[in-house]
Amino acid sequence: MFSFSNIQQYHAQLLSGETSCTEAVKHFLKNIAQNDHLNAFVEVYENEALEKAAALDRKRNAGELKKLHGVVIAIKDVLCYKDHKVTAGSKILKGFVSLFTATAIQYLLDQDAIIIGTCNCDEFAMGSSNENSAYGNVLNALDNSKVPGGSSGGSAVAVQADMCMLSLGSDTGGSVRQPADFCGIIGLKPGYGRISRYGLIAYASSFDQVGIFGKTLEDVALLLSIMSQPDASDSTMDSSPIEPTVTDFQVNINKKFRFTYFRQVMEHSSLDPEIAGSIQNELSNLKANGHIVEETDFDLLDYIVPTYYVLTTAEASSNLSRYDGVRYGYRSKEQAASLTDFYLHNRSEGFGKEVKRRIMLGTFVLSTGFYDAYFNKAQQVRKLLHNQVKDLFEKYDAIILPTSPTTAFSIGQKDKDPLAMYLADIFTVFANLAGLPAISIPLYRHSNRMPFGLQVLVKQQRELTLLAVSSLLMQQKAHIQHEEIL
Ligand code: GLN
Repeated sequence: MFSFSNIQQYHAQLLSGETSCTEAVKHFLKNIAQNDHLNAFVEVYENEALEKAAALDRKRNAGELKKLHGVVIAIKDVLCYKDHKVTAGSKILKGFVSLFTATAIQYLLDQDAIIIGTCNCDEFAMGSSNENSAYGNVLNALDNSKVPGGSSGGSAVAVQADMCMLSLGSDTGGSVRQPADFCGIIGLKPGYGRISRYGLIAYASSFDQVGIFGKTLEDVALLLSIMSQPDASDSTMDSSPIEPTVTDFQVNINKKFRFTYFRQVMEHSSLDPEIAGSIQNELSNLKANGHIVEETDFDLLDYIVPTYYVLTTAEASSNLSRYDGVRYGYRSKEQAASLTDFYLHNRSEGFGKEVKRRIMLGTFVLSTGFYDAYFNKAQQVRKLLHNQVKDLFEKYDAIILPTSPTTAFSIGQKDKDPLAMYLADIFTVFANLAGLPAISIPLYRHSNRMPFGLQVLVKQQRELTLLAVSSLLMQQKAHIQHEEIL
């Protein structure tokens, strides 16, 4: 019977003839069918995936094996894949077929990956619980009464419940790290500009990044190295080279890092005491193992959620103006008396409630009279944050934060209270405001039985350090667990 643990082992099994790509795809298709109630997928490319697997099985016999040969990957419904539907979880794009393939996806396909389907998400990636999708909400596989996190909830659950090997999400303010945290898996957001955004449906362009979900650091690193190749179609890309391979980031156990954490975060009233305790413990262990661990004052903490929501809604109001129902997308059946009326019908019926709220908020903060008070102010806070971050990384290699203030909350608990939902993004938006690489690694389990992770942030272009620190933390954890068993 097929079982997946990591790509390296899978490839070894393929080469020894122990398994085949077809067997792998059949295994995941079966799991997808069995987990239909979780609502993680919008569309499953059943026949296509099987055909590709069979072709690879034939090809492999001829001796060729690329880096992602037969690796089964699911993608968030915000990434364009030529001749496949992409809808951003929205009624306004229902039935829309991509005319081209996102660069990130193309790089995966070039290495013989198999795309198994598209995953459910919050509409236009706006949300923290996957309750804002036109396809209904996604359930957390560990407890079906809980949310999986958002906005890339479907992608997280697809990995969590063994419906694919790895998956892609997008992270504008935490949408990969927070669902990874809620589902007990790894979620990596590279630095801004690391992976091409060409073909990623825009929410807030100066924040958006493609992110990766997986169960092992090695697999996540491999995908990162493959997708972070240059792309002339995205002028915001960071052109510095990065090549984490399976062995690149494995740290010598004697290597010592300089860590910092924020006092205001650890003392924040929204932070679950058990989560705070686990992170404090981790910090103490690092210190005991000879790493530098120091506290920093971060007095901008209470400004970062408002800053994030002012800037992202402003960008979204502009990005989403293209959905007007003229050339593509949803068109209302209502009789329109004027062009404005025509737009009004299409957009009011096509967009969901949260997206409309954000378009209105974004339009408001950009409007004459309020621009200086809101948009400009928020830009200034972002600049301050950038300066603080620059200073911090002169002294430290990594920042340790919780990923989320709580473990996965119940479905329906926050969806009527947008402010409570936004405030829960308090620890993840920091990395996007500053463009930093960040990861959530699944280290803990709460007494309420839900998993939670720890977040690490590093300087821009230091994805390798991020992986190295994550590997160290996972080793440290494994070591402690081992001692506990003994
Ligand atoms: N929860 C955040 C929001 O709703 C983050 C979304 C994201 O990263 N796409 O904006």
